[in-house]
Amino acid sequence: MVEELFRQDAYLKEADAIVTAQDERGVRLDRTIFYPTGGGQPGDTGLLRWDGGEAKIVDSLKADGGDVLHVLAPDAPKPAVGTKVHASLDWERRYKHMRMHTAMHVMSSIIKGSVTGGQVGADKSRLDFNLEGDVPTKEWVTEEMNRILATDHPVVAQWITDEEMNARPELVKTMSVRPPMGAGRVRLLAIDGVDLQACGGTHVAKTAEIGRVECTKVENKGKMNRRFIIALA
Ligand SMILES: [Zn+2]
Repeated sequence: MVEELFRQDAYLKEADAIVTAQDERGVRLDRTIFYPTGGGQPGDTGLLRWDGGEAKIVDSLKADGGDVLHVLAPDAPKPAVGTKVHASLDWERRYKHMRMHTAMHVMSSIIKGSVTGGQVGADKSRLDFNLEGDVPTKEWVTEEMNRILATDHPVVAQWITDEEMNARPELVKTMSVRPPMGAGRVRLLAIDGVDLQACGGTHVAKTAEIGRVECTKVENKGKMNRRFIIALA
């Protein structure tokens, strides 16, 4: 099982690690700063360097046993098990994911409906809601999000037990992406005064880092389902 360094500190851009397994697609490490695809956030990319070689990490995926598979470019050499490696993130891309992901929490706090899906991207992100009644316009969403973002709110992770989580179902906003449970504790993400929900993704430390956002489109995805797309302004 990999030590997930990004859960404690999403700002780590580089880290040393040891290769614990290797297959035709890539390698597993004893510790990693690479977020694996999940919860609507894409897997990280970057570079792996070791004595005598280097390889691009083109994707990161969850693997069995609580591991992360660092997918290497198809033609790249692979370090053997036991090799000491130095991993570095494509930080520009990941940082955009962190800003976008945190912005999605802000969006979910202003649109009153249950979230049915979402996808974070570096260029645009979306959240889908089941809405009853009036559908907010993209202008209203833009204005309301930027009103909240004009104040710098701290963003902090907290942990609660599975039992506390089960007693507070309102903490799961995205029913299609239930937080991982069974490990005894669940990670909550709190944006001070704005939002509180279970989430295992990577976020910025304060909302000022997001800057301004723009809701570029509201799409009709079914009788009650509406998709809100945002971009970083
Ligand atoms: Zn989150």
